[in-house]
Amino acid sequence: MSIDQYALCPCGNGKKIKFCKCKDSVGLMDQVLNMVNGGQVVPALDRLKSIITEHPDAAWALAIRGRLLIGLGEHETLKENAEHFIRLQPANPIALSQMAVVRLTEDNLPAAADLTLEAFSESSDQIEASVIDNAFMVALNAYSKQRYFSAQVYAMLCAGSETVFSQQALSALSQMYSSPNVHQLMKEVPELLPHPADADWAERYEEAKALFDDRKILLADSKFESLKRSGVTHPAVLSGLLQCAVWRCDERRQQDLALQLSQDESLDLIARQRLRAITDLLADEPEASTSLYRLRASFPDVSEAEMALTAEAQIEAMTGQDFSGLELEGQEVSPRSGFSVVQPTDDGKFNAVVGSLFLYGRQTDREPELICVNVVEADLEAVKAAISQALPQAEITEDKSNIVPLWSFPMGTPNQKELPDNPVELKPYLEEFANSTFGQRVCSVGLPLLGGKSLAEAASDDSLLFERQVVVRLLEGRQLLQTLKQPMQYIYDAAKIDPLPELEIPEDQLGSVKAIDLGRVKMDGIGFEGLLWITFTAQHSGQVGVVNRWAGAAIEYAKTHEGDEVNAEQVVQAYTLWAPLAESDTAILERLSEGMEYADKHSIDPLELLMQRFEHRLVSADAEGFQADMTLLQQRYGNNPQVIGMVQQIMMRYGLINPDGRPRSAAPPAAAAGPSDQFTAAPAPSQGSSGGLWTPESGSSAPASDSGEGGGKLWVPGMD
Ligand SMILES: [Zn+2]
Repeated sequence: MSIDQYALCPCGNGKKIKFCKCKDSVGLMDQVLNMVNGGQVVPALDRLKSIITEHPDAAWALAIRGRLLIGLGEHETLKENAEHFIRLQPANPIALSQMAVVRLTEDNLPAAADLTLEAFSESSDQIEASVIDNAFMVALNAYSKQRYFSAQVYAMLCAGSETVFSQQALSALSQMYSSPNVHQLMKEVPELLPHPADADWAERYEEAKALFDDRKILLADSKFESLKRSGVTHPAVLSGLLQCAVWRCDERRQQDLALQLSQDESLDLIARQRLRAITDLLADEPEASTSLYRLRASFPDVSEAEMALTAEAQIEAMTGQDFSGLELEGQEVSPRSGFSVVQPTDDGKFNAVVGSLFLYGRQTDREPELICVNVVEADLEAVKAAISQALPQAEITEDKSNIVPLWSFPMGTPNQKELPDNPVELKPYLEEFANSTFGQRVCSVGLPLLGGKSLAEAASDDSLLFERQVVVRLLEGRQLLQTLKQPMQYIYDAAKIDPLPELEIPEDQLGSVKAIDLGRVKMDGIGFEGLLWITFTAQHSGQVGVVNRWAGAAIEYAKTHEGDEVNAEQVVQAYTLWAPLAESDTAILERLSEGMEYADKHSIDPLELLMQRFEHRLVSADAEGFQADMTLLQQRYGNNPQVIGMVQQIMMRYGLINPDGRPRSAAPPAAAAGPSDQFTAAPAPSQGSSGGLWTPESGSSAPASDSGEGGGKLWVPGMD
């Protein structure tokens, strides 16, 4: 082919072909690309290999080969290729970014981040698309390690670029923002603070900031650092360093800087509380946390022990499905039987499960044993006492096995035997259970941050006021506590900390409110647009309590103000967000039906609301309503294959039909125990394969997940 000698060389080093060492071999590129585009990846790799042997300077070939190897997951060869590439062109952004991927395969996230940032620094104004694609892998890796700030900045960069992964990056971000397992404070990187107007270091700060804005993060970092070394410890400089530490995936440093900022008395008090809370969220061993214990008891005869446990009043036998297939760490087999230790809640209304016991029989080389995992410190004595009561001879040992951050402290599990059979009653039951116990439990747990005291014990200790505020800020950031009013009120009262004051913001300035503050914007005087703006923005960051209040207000507004000002389509959209947040199944159905009526009245397609209602009636075993909605769907959308496909998917999900579309024999709607979507706080009776039990061994997902689903699911490139 004819080559424009003055075009940029495809190896990515920024030189023109004429001046690059690729000059002699780049004519072979077309041939290789034809193979790749024709799907002949393996022959293309062979060809590239021989080209590289023949022309060791062919950086363009190394660049293409590296990209193919990344796609194929050929880590060993990729490493060799990247090392060759870097030796040849140490400052080539593509070489650096491919080396970053190698570091990721070696599980070295900070090194991968630094190489990626070096690739940015070495890039011209425009960062090469493949470098950004590789940066998305940094985002994924950071997310999987729960380094949410870092995951965000990289994913945002990818989402803002038109590259292969920009859509995935967007959905990854929205997945993260809506995840109840991600603390609200981790959904927004602390902002870069401005310098005081009269600072004599202002110019140096501006230089660093300009580099930062230009994505020359490593250079910005050293400028901020040198400012700090010369004695400028102003929050503006620390906030710059914090931003750089986020890009560098350096959590220890983020934590240090957040802590230093939280101690700076020139900052607003609420900002300081939040920064201190962030410090705790970044820590490997958070101080607002409590210990989890693993108990073991040994005894000679397993059958006798089983009988004794069965006979014990405070202990209930589990049914098979709760422990079958359960594999505790270090155990090769499933337990022989399982038991729950139950205890009445303080108000006497419920019995709560405080420990799950798993009994192992004698196997070839071990004695029978009883194991109890993840007992929170507060329940330790009760569980031990129950075991001793049943097995007075047994020797019980305890180990601290883990810690659980207070903000994700388990909501508690009610005694399964007392759960209502009717799925319609289940949600209010679980909500009542959490209301009745959670606030009290969370306030009675000793916390290292409060010098071992609980929130309730520290309530009158003035020297711990700031720390108490921090703990309350941590609890407020849990999605679920926004919908459960009672526990949060209990916590405010018990800790003697006020809720955050309302913010009075003129409607035209709502855009300046941080996501985390949406919940305290004063509603009075905000018009339709503003009500919706807050609704949708809060929805984006998973603040269901805020959505519930503001969407409700927007809908109320629409009902009383017909006219140009009200956009009926947006009202219907608000209904779709608002309806599922109602406190009972009946109320959800009412909201959905009301929304459909509104949509029909304004000639708007109510499909989304109808689908929600259809699914909801299925979940709540409303056979009659389910049939009626099915008929309605057929009447209205019978010849829309997409809608019918969605209906089939829902029915498949609840086991009503087989994947081939044939009805399944024994699955009436009443048996469909689907994922209860809104209130999944208290672990549902049999949640997932681990039998409703969260065990730290069972994976890296956050403890006490508020929803049955893990957060990492969407974070796979290639999934839709
Ligand atoms: Zn070149």
